[in-house]
Amino acid sequence: MENTSPTYHHFLEGWHQFMLVATFVAIAAALIILIIHYAKVAAIKTYKGKYDYLKINRIRAYQMFYFALASAIFFYGNTIGDVTVGKSLVYIFVRFFISMCVGVLVGYVIYLILKFYYPTFLERKLTALRYTPRISKSGNEMRLLSEEEEDVHLDEGMQAEENVFSIDYDVWVDEHTGEVQIEKYLGYLEALECGSCGFKTLKIEREQIVEPATEEKEGKLIKHYKCTYCQSVRTTQHTIARIIKSDSEYRLPADYILKGQRKVKSIMIEIISTKGDKKEFYFQNTKQASEFLDEFDFDNIPKQ
Ligand SMILES: [Zn+2]
Repeated sequence: MENTSPTYHHFLEGWHQFMLVATFVAIAAALIILIIHYAKVAAIKTYKGKYDYLKINRIRAYQMFYFALASAIFFYGNTIGDVTVGKSLVYIFVRFFISMCVGVLVGYVIYLILKFYYPTFLERKLTALRYTPRISKSGNEMRLLSEEEEDVHLDEGMQAEENVFSIDYDVWVDEHTGEVQIEKYLGYLEALECGSCGFKTLKIEREQIVEPATEEKEGKLIKHYKCTYCQSVRTTQHTIARIIKSDSEYRLPADYILKGQRKVKSIMIEIISTKGDKKEFYFQNTKQASEFLDEFDFDNIPKQ
């Protein structure tokens, strides 16, 4: 299908112009997304504020930035090789398709990197923000209290939240003036917010199978929740599929003693599920780690 008519060449010129403009628009959009994101981060004064903002927005901002760049690649691809494309109308479709494949491939690879590889880097950055010494109102460097020291500054509800690992409070003190700053972070495990007292301390107390599931039909399950702080209770009803969850327990060896406890900075527990999911959890002492294992359940790890 030879097509070298003036009309086609005229159309091709317009197409080229349009794609070129689209390329610049996409690049500009990418840069604007990035600049706005960094400007917002820079405008936040506190480390805690930056932490919260980055945790929610960083990956999304990068995704939008790279999506715009992948679009730019697609648009630009449609301007390459005009001499060949001028020979036949078929080539314009071929070029369109190849550009699309390249754009999608680039976009997909970056999507995978941001989903599986980048979160580790972000986590490291967030950890650094969380533990950078705070400065008090009088300009002194504050000290982060250990889990053992901080309880006097937390009310009972806060302590209850920490005991079920749903919320982690960091307590910073200015040792010269006594100023205290308390920061709230999401813990390793999920607990529901209690309807009565408002703390994140509502935990499953027991699960009651009202109707066991058989191979033929689903069963019925009632979950009994109890607030570990104000003791109020709540129940919810669920259907169960054929396979019923096993009651596996995870425990540290009871007689495990760390030599030279004072030199131990933190204790890591790595839990690997049968599906291959891996999770790391850090604690300051074995007591805390053991209590964590008592609470641990794959079902109540917050989704990332
Ligand atoms: Zn409550």
